[in-house]
Amino acid sequence: MLDPSPAMAYRGNPARSDGAGSETHRPELEQLVEDLLRVRMSRLKLPPEIKPLFLRRMRRNIRKNTAGWCFWLAMLTILNGVFDAFIVPPRVFPLIVAERVLLAACLLTVRQLVKRDLFVPLAPFYLGLPCVLTVIIAGIGGLAAHDTGLLNRYLDNAMLVDCTAMMFFGIEFSFCLGICATCLPLIALFLGFAPLANAARLQVMFFDVTAFLSIAYGRHVQNLILARLFLLNMRDEIRDAAARARHAQLSSIAYTDPLTELSNRRYFDEICEAISANATSLLPVSVCMIEIDHFKKLNDTLGHLQGDRCLKLVAATIRNHLRGPSDIAARFGGEEFVLLLPNTGLAAARDLAERIRGAILDLQHPNPGAPGGIVTISIGAADLQNPPVTIQSLIATADTALYRAKQSGRNRVST
Ligand code: GH3
Ligand code: MG
Repeated sequence: MLDPSPAMAYRGNPARSDGAGSETHRPELEQLVEDLLRVRMSRLKLPPEIKPLFLRRMRRNIRKNTAGWCFWLAMLTILNGVFDAFIVPPRVFPLIVAERVLLAACLLTVRQLVKRDLFVPLAPFYLGLPCVLTVIIAGIGGLAAHDTGLLNRYLDNAMLVDCTAMMFFGIEFSFCLGICATCLPLIALFLGFAPLANAARLQVMFFDVTAFLSIAYGRHVQNLILARLFLLNMRDEIRDAAARARHAQLSSIAYTDPLTELSNRRYFDEICEAISANATSLLPVSVCMIEIDHFKKLNDTLGHLQGDRCLKLVAATIRNHLRGPSDIAARFGGEEFVLLLPNTGLAAARDLAERIRGAILDLQHPNPGAPGGIVTISIGAADLQNPPVTIQSLIATADTALYRAKQSGRNRVST
């Protein structure tokens, strides 16, 4: 396999370019992104063409960060359990420890699910589940301790955990509201069971509702900023893809022979220069020089347009006989073509040359000026077994062989 230089690897063989890059460059998307970037940020609403892309990118980050967050929360739960040993009444201590162990185990399980990308459709709940569980454990623990101070502290801790989740992870606003709608009634329920004065209950609830909703709104604003950044990023990507596609197109034009659509001489010369420097891995390497016989007479008898048709036909036949991407065919000039065959010895090169010569013969394409009345080609082949790899001298040897083929009657392969 040809080991091309970076420049070549980037360009590829222009004559085989399939226009890659056009897929990423979608002009209609570009216009849509431009229009969205003109909308005021507070009114920004991503349309269905773009929203899934945005959510996919956000969720990828959420899943990654959720794993770290669950681990942190599990460690916090375990540490809090240690502190509880000093403050909770001994009779409820086993219950609280059991709860905390259960919560830590749940969090570590969620972490594993997230890390291993399991149950992907449930990904949006990876964050919601720990949020709700934390509140439930805090409420049950606080109530079991029969200590309103402790219950308040536990619920405050749970609220802090939930608020940090909404603050730090780019979850959707609707999902934040879902967390609020689940956790706030739960908190209200636990407070309802606690021996507290109504005014105190209302005060705690007011504080919690304000905290939850303001953090959720903060998330909403952050999401708008993220959406705008995403659009800016997308615009850059679209422009990059367009520039790359344009560059590939220009390269393809610069390195392709317009008539035969094979690589041109410029491309071939650059390839030769690139691999001549250090290409022992290509050895043995062969070159075949191919020339149409009595082509001038075809032009003279049938006209240049028929001559051009014949050139295209010969080029297509050569292209169809290439064995893979490392075989390089180019129009060398006029009615002369060249084949560069890495990792190919003389015998294999001769074999390939014979097959191409036979295929041209089988075309039975008319050339009234030629002795047989049809188009034939002559081929000179040469190979290089040992370094240094000097393609130019290899071409000269193949050219001499071609001259011999012409001298000894044409329509043949000489080595
Ligand atoms: P030989 O068998 O010895 O190769 O004879 P020949 O007539 O093929 O060789 P010669 O080199 O004398 O003629 C090549 C001709 O190819 C001359 C030129 O007019 C013609 N030619 C070169 N480029 C093109 C092209 O792009 N289109 C057409 N139609 N003819 C071309
Ligand atoms: Mg000729």
